[in-house]
Amino acid sequence: MTRQPLVGGNWKMHLDASGAVDLIGGISAGMPELAAGVDVMVFPPFPYLGLSAEAALGSGILLGGQDVSGELEGACTGQVSAPMLLDSGCVVALVGHSERRHGLGETDFVVAAKVRTALAAGLRVVLCLGETLEQREAGATVEVVLGQLSGSLEGVSVEDLDRVDLAYEPVWAIGTGLTAGPDEAQEVHATLRSAVNARYDDRSASRIRILYGGSVKPSNAADLMACEDIDGALVGGASLEAESFLDIARAAARRE
Ligand code: PEP
Repeated sequence: MTRQPLVGGNWKMHLDASGAVDLIGGISAGMPELAAGVDVMVFPPFPYLGLSAEAALGSGILLGGQDVSGELEGACTGQVSAPMLLDSGCVVALVGHSERRHGLGETDFVVAAKVRTALAAGLRVVLCLGETLEQREAGATVEVVLGQLSGSLEGVSVEDLDRVDLAYEPVWAIGTGLTAGPDEAQEVHATLRSAVNARYDDRSASRIRILYGGSVKPSNAADLMACEDIDGALVGGASLEAESFLDIARAAARRE
């Protein structure tokens, strides 16, 4: 099965309102050249979703939330629900980012509730997984990411899995300038795809896109994208500048 590559820009807690609109404008300008050869998603901060949606209108850029509540509605101060994301023009939610798992103590149990709720409301999900440096050095990478995969997909049906993509993001590579080498990353991606096959089926494993994330830049994107099981990138720092993000999207679009 040929998988459409996907590149996502995680803006984290950066930019201001006019910076967000300008960045969308810069990315939009490069979209025609990509000729629909890659899905392009951006994840702006929540307050800028509405104006980002307006700025992205007609460009083909897909909008996502950086997180989503595990509850559909209710007394959840500070949280944002899946229906609110849909209302704001989002089609996807990022779930289980390491800055939430490790920075805010989100467990697989919490992540799984978010995944199920987002899917039930009609969103797509990009589910993030990845090991810390200590876990990698202890030789526990595979055990950790397979545990996260299994725990985070608890209760997700094979039908709903069609709207899930994965992002393998080694925690030690996020925002540090360090990147897993293409061979190291490919090995983990292939392991994740086999695990999806074992847990679901062959069709799901061939369909699911597995993005790599962790200091992806224009200079390392092509080598990563050339790997059989790397279907795109989740990009933090390099997504804050339109040209560098577009360069990464171009590398993904060229992926054979
Ligand atoms: C991320 O935030 O998901 C990420 C991969 O960040 P960076 O590209 O800056 O390492």
